Amino acid sequence: MAKLKNEGLCTLCQKIVPYQSILKHIKGHDPSSTKEEPSSEKEKIFLIKVFQGPYFWLYIEINGNATLNDLDTFLRDIWLECCGHMSQFTINGDHYESHGPGLNKKIHQTLNENSSFSYCYDFGSSTYLGGKVLASRPGKLPKTLRLIARNTLPEDVVCRTCGEAATVICCLCSDLSCEKCRKNHECQEDDMMSPVVNSPRMGVCGYTGEAW
Ligand SMILES: [Zn+2]
Ligand SMILES: [Zn+2]
Ligand SMILES: [Zn+2]
Ligand SMILES: [Zn+2]
Repeated sequence: MAKLKNEGLCTLCQKIVPYQSILKHIKGHDPSSTKEEPSSEKEKIFLIKVFQGPYFWLYIEINGNATLNDLDTFLRDIWLECCGHMSQFTINGDHYESHGPGLNKKIHQTLNENSSFSYCYDFGSSTYLGGKVLASRPGKLPKTLRLIARNTLPEDVVCRTCGEAATVICCLCSDLSCEKCRKNHECQEDDMMSPVVNSPRMGVCGYTGEAW
């Protein structure tokens, strides 16, 4: 199988950048030059990559003073939320669950430079994500966090029948389909078709890309 293209959008300059050079690209921006950013030597901003497999990835900056709950809310909004399932961070063997006090912990209390973590959304039809702190720098973002870059829709999201761009995914068998071929889809359950969305939760538990 040919190697798939792996690239994404840098939100700082709106350019599409190959995955292999995205970190270098981001660092080349000197994000601290953002005008609204108040300088603060005491506080820290973390650059974090969150990913699933090679083709789904987000680069975000988050204030050290932000909480795991802020990160959880962000991940739900951009990638995960379908019906308010539980979620959990695992950092250094410790678990921090949603719907509990764990997520009130601050980023700088739980993560440091080079930390890795894992994250699970929904303990039934789980979506697992990995996370890694790539860098930190002094400062404070005006908002608690911001998206720096995200992957574009992976190249292999095409209709399994005809190879055209896919628009829906079958929640029963995970087959991708275009508008034409969905009518002949063998599961014969059109209400089990979910829209194609740029998220690792595409087609899981009726995820539609719209937060509830
Ligand atoms: Zn850029
Ligand atoms: Zn759900
Ligand atoms: Zn088709
Ligand atoms: Zn199907």
